[in-house]
Order: sequence, then C-alpha cells, then structure tokens
Amino acid sequence: MIQDLHSHTYYSYCGKDSPEAVIKNAIACGIELMGISDHYYGIVMNRPGVTYQNDEHRIITHNNALKRYFEHIKTLAEKYRDQIEVWCGVEITVIDRGFTLLPDGVDVSMFDYCLIENFQLQGSVIDDVFAFADRCGTGKTGLAHADLPAYLISKGLDMDEYFRKMKEHNVFWELNVNYDSKHHYREHQYVKDFFENDALIDAVKRSGMRMSVGFDGHVLEDYDADRVITACRRLEELSVPMIG
Ligand SMILES: [Zn+2]
Ligand SMILES: [Zn+2]
Repeated sequence: MIQDLHSHTYYSYCGKDSPEAVIKNAIACGIELMGISDHYYGIVMNRPGVTYQNDEHRIITHNNALKRYFEHIKTLAEKYRDQIEVWCGVEITVIDRGFTLLPDGVDVSMFDYCLIENFQLQGSVIDDVFAFADRCGTGKTGLAHADLPAYLISKGLDMDEYFRKMKEHNVFWELNVNYDSKHHYREHQYVKDFFENDALIDAVKRSGMRMSVGFDGHVLEDYDADRVITACRRLEELSVPMIG
C-alpha cells in the first residue's frame, strides 16, 4: 500500500496548505493512505509569549484545540473515504523550546497515531520512549526521522531486544523521504543506509516491528510523491511490514 504518514498543514507554524488541499494532492498523486501529522504546539497555537491563567486553563485550551483539529481532519477523512484513507495524527517533539512540550493532562489518545520527533537527540526530555508512547495512548507511535541504528550503538542497546520492544508497544520506525524548502532536508543518510543493510532489514523482519514512510511535507509545491512511492514499493519488495 502506498502510504505517507507524515505531513503538515497550516495547523503547523511551518506548514502552508489546508488539510483538504493536502488530501486532494495526495489523491492526485496516487497515495492510498495519507496521515496528517501537524506539530502539537502548532495545533494548540502555543508559541513563545503565550500565557495562561494557570495550568488548568492551559490544559483545557490545548485539549479544545486538539479536538477542533481532530474533528476537522476526521470530517475530511469521511468526505474523501472513497478515494483515499486518511489518518489523523499529531507530531510531538520532546525537545523543550519553552512552548513545544506536551503538558501532563493533555489528551492525545484519540488520534489514530502519533509521531515522536527527536527523542534520540541530546536535549530530549524523555529517557524512555516506550513509556512516553504509552502515555500518548494513541496505540500506534512512530519514531520520526530518527537514525535508529546510530542511536542504539550510541546507547549500547541491543538491536533485537529494542526492535522487539517496539513491536510490543506498537512503536514503528519512519523512513523519512523529505525533500523540502522549509527545513532544507535533502536526503536522510539513515534511509539510504537502511536499504543497503541486509542484516538490519532482517532484524526488522525478525522482530515483527513495523515501518512507515513519510514525506514530511510542509509546502505542496515541494511534494514529490515518487520518493514516497519508491520507498513503499521497496519495503513491499523486501516484505518489510508497514504500519498502514
Ligand atoms: Zn516542520
Ligand atoms: Zn514533521
């Protein structure tokens, strides 16, 4: 199945297009499953300088904003259901830039999935990504644009054990095929390396954990469906299970 589980709309500060435009473009490009995954802090309109009366006010405001976004995407998913499957997700960073983190008490469990970004980087505020995935409670959690093999080596973690844990917690690994003008991604070396590493591919298959492909689109003019389609087909040829 041709699937792109990483995309941004005007709900993200860095995204430009409406969710409907992103979905229509995906249909035109032959994408069969499209995931909308706007940045958490964008959806709730959190930014430097935003203040709340107290924690409760913050949580209520964020929960309401998430609900509006969710209902908007779900309405579109219903509208286009005969042409494409649409999942509603949210991308959550674990790097604290003052306004970016998911506060305790904010509920994201209704989403079809979530993406966690940058959990592997220095400055990440979580040390157990599985506990965080469980806290999010969406049932499917993707590790976005992460060089997982490099992370495991740096932490001295056993790959088979880690992948097995990913399967257990339904945590999937994204191959990011972004090429965009917003964050100036070109090619992720870990994605290239993945397809050339038979031992790694075997380890993924052995574990039963799942993969995803994400273009991480921010601006429709940048969208290059061929990169998504090529990666999905290659995973299919290798019999690597995808999340969708
Ligand atoms: Zn972005
Ligand atoms: Zn993203």
